[in-house]
Amino acid sequence: MDSLIVSKVFLIDVQALICVMFWEGLASSLIIFTSKDHVKFFRGEQLLEKAITFRLIRSLGYFLLLYRGIFPDLVSSTLANVLLLLAFYLDAHVLLQTMKLNSEKLKRYGRLVFVMFSLLYVVADLFFAKANIRVVIASLGILMTFAPVVFQCMFGKKSRNLYRSFLWPYLLLIITTVPRAIVGITNKEYTLLETDVLQSMFYGFLLLKAFFCTLFLFVIFLSKSANEIEDLARDPLTGLNNRKSFNEQATEVFKRRQRTQGLFGVFFLDIDLFKNINDQWGHDKGDEILVAVADALQCSVDVKDICCRHGGDEFIICTTIDNVKIGEKIGKRLQEKIHNIDLVPGHRITSSIGFAYGVPKESECFADYITKADEAMYLSKRSGRDRLTVIRMEEIF
Ligand code: GH3
Ligand code: MG
Repeated sequence: MDSLIVSKVFLIDVQALICVMFWEGLASSLIIFTSKDHVKFFRGEQLLEKAITFRLIRSLGYFLLLYRGIFPDLVSSTLANVLLLLAFYLDAHVLLQTMKLNSEKLKRYGRLVFVMFSLLYVVADLFFAKANIRVVIASLGILMTFAPVVFQCMFGKKSRNLYRSFLWPYLLLIITTVPRAIVGITNKEYTLLETDVLQSMFYGFLLLKAFFCTLFLFVIFLSKSANEIEDLARDPLTGLNNRKSFNEQATEVFKRRQRTQGLFGVFFLDIDLFKNINDQWGHDKGDEILVAVADALQCSVDVKDICCRHGGDEFIICTTIDNVKIGEKIGKRLQEKIHNIDLVPGHRITSSIGFAYGVPKESECFADYITKADEAMYLSKRSGRDRLTVIRMEEIF
C-alpha cells in the first residue's frame, strides 16, 4: 500500500522525462534566441550564445538517448553521454558567468572534469559496455561538474539570496547523484533508462534544474535591466538625479501644485570658487567635495523633495512648502551643512543659493522656476557669495 502511494507520486517514466527535457531544451533555446537582442547587459560576452548552444547540445544528447536500442550503442550511449557531459560543463560555465563569478580556477577544473569523464565514459563503453558502469560514470560526472560551482554560487562570499532561491534544484540533483552512483555500483542490472523512484527523482531534478536555469537567466536579465535603467537616471559621481529624471519628477510635482494651488519652490545652488579648490587641492578632492555637497543636500531636505546635479558644481532642489519661512529655513540648513564639510583643512566651503517660490499659475511652467532660482543665485554671487537670495515668482527686479 505504502509503496503504491510512493510510486503514484514519485514514479515517473524515465523515457517520458527525457522526452520532455528534449523539448524543453529546444523551447528554451528558442526563447533565449528571440530575446537575445533585447538584453543589453550580457552583450559582447557571448553568454547567450553559450546558453543556447548548451541547451541544443543537451537536447541532441537526450534525443540520442531516447533511441537506445534503435541507434547503435556508439551513438545512443557513447556520443549521447559525451554530449550531455559537454552540455553540463557549459551549463556550469554559463552559471558562473551569469553571476559574474568568473573564477579561472573553476573554469579550468570544469574543463578537466569534462575531458576526464568523457574519456572514462568512452573507454568504459568501448571495453566493458556494462550498463551499471555507465550509470556510475554519468552520475559522478554530473556530481563533479556541478558540485563546486553550485556550492560557490550558493555559499561563496558573493552569493546572494536570489541565487540561492534559484539554485536549489541543482543542489537536489547533486545530492541524488550519490545514491544513484551507489546503486549503479551495487546493482549490476541497473541501466541509464531504468524507471524506479531514484531514477525518477534524478531525471525529475534534471528537468527542474533546466527549467529553473532558464527562469534564473531571465530574472537576472530583468534585475540587471532595472539597474541599468536606474543608473541612466543618476549622475554617476554623486548618485543624485540627473537633469532628465529630475525634470520628469519635478514636473509631476509642479503640475500637482498647479492643480491644488499650493506653494512650490526651487533652490539653485552653486559652490563658491570651486575652480580654486580644484586648482589648489586637485580634481579628486573636488570630486570628493561634490559628493559631500550632494549628501548634505539630501540630508537637508525632506524625502519627497527632489535633488539633482544640474552640472559641474550646480545643484537644484524642487520642494513643496507651506510658507516662505520654511523655504528660508531649508536654505539656511543647506548653507550650514555645506559649511560643515571638513574635507580641506583651513578652508570653509561655501555656496551661493537662489530660491524661487510661488503658487504655480496656469500660464507658468516648471522651467520658469528654474530660471528665476538661477537669477536669484546670481544675485547671491553678485552680492558677495555665501548667501541665500529668496525671490517670489511675481517679483520683478
Ligand atoms: P563661482 O563662485 O563664481 O561659482 O566660482 P567657481 O570657481 O565655482 O566657478 P564655476 O562655478 O563657473 O566653476 C565650476 C567649476 O567646477 C569648473 C570646473 O572646473 C569644475 N567642475 C565641473 N565639473 C566637475 C567635476 O565633475 N569634478 C570636479 N572636481 N570639478 C568639476
Ligand atoms: Mg561655482
